[in-house]
Amino acid sequence: MLRTDGIHHVTSISGGAQRNVDFYVGTLGLRLVKRTVNFDDPGTWHLYYGDRTGSPGTLITFFPWEGAHAGVSGAGEVAATAYSAPAARVMEWAESQGLESQLQERFGQQVLAFRDTDGSWLELVGSALEGTPDSESPGVTGFHGVTLSVRDPGATARLLTDVFGFETVGETDGRVRFGVQGEAPGRVVDLVEPESATPARLGSGSVHHVAFRARDDDHQQEFREALLSRGFNVTPVQDRQYFRSIYFREPGGVLFEIATDPPGMLIDETVESLGSELRLPPWYESARGRIAEALTPIATPNATPVG
Ligand code: ZN
Repeated sequence: MLRTDGIHHVTSISGGAQRNVDFYVGTLGLRLVKRTVNFDDPGTWHLYYGDRTGSPGTLITFFPWEGAHAGVSGAGEVAATAYSAPAARVMEWAESQGLESQLQERFGQQVLAFRDTDGSWLELVGSALEGTPDSESPGVTGFHGVTLSVRDPGATARLLTDVFGFETVGETDGRVRFGVQGEAPGRVVDLVEPESATPARLGSGSVHHVAFRARDDDHQQEFREALLSRGFNVTPVQDRQYFRSIYFREPGGVLFEIATDPPGMLIDETVESLGSELRLPPWYESARGRIAEALTPIATPNATPVG
């Protein structure tokens, strides 16, 4: 049976690049694992944050657009991106950061919801894991899952179960939870119905797409065929340097990607040097000088984990 190993990455739009780095590295404690450019618009950054080695299931990436208008939430979008973090650390951390947050209980777990500096909803889902006591970060260990806000959850649900191998694992307060091979971190998708039927409008603070994992090119091809046979309009495979990707819009309007685990973030940098300098795919190397000059310089806060 066709089955994904869960979420590969989430890609969002932000305003200024430095503010984005300050939040995801300085506040959330992730590592900047790749500084590259938007392959479709090489005059702008594409920044990747993740765990120490940039593993699939920990990667959140951003297209920072200085002066981008704010996104408007609505139907057909990723409404929240959730991370797993040690429950014992989460509240203390939020207080120390002065974050305006809401604590909820969901499926028996503590969920702390807050917005990033561009208004994107993030959640920390408390796990039983122990935190590092001397760390100033919440000890994020990777994704917990995503919440999709879709008008016809039935159609999205069928796609998740029939093509991606998810199963329904719970339902509470208008939220249906799907998990693949259990509900381990990074393998959870929640569906909720939007408050209004108005489609979400993309802008800073919006999630652009969510990517699911394919083990390799053959696995990705199987997904592609399964989608085509169900009438989905899937793109051809695109080389994203760190993975290969196909894209399609799910029935609720959210842009889905299927990304291969290989070759991964270590294809052009060592673990120690990940994210330390501008990396370009071979087809842009000849224009490196011009590209580098057009990019707004960014600096990582001192909190950057070292080697
Ligand atoms: Zn992507």
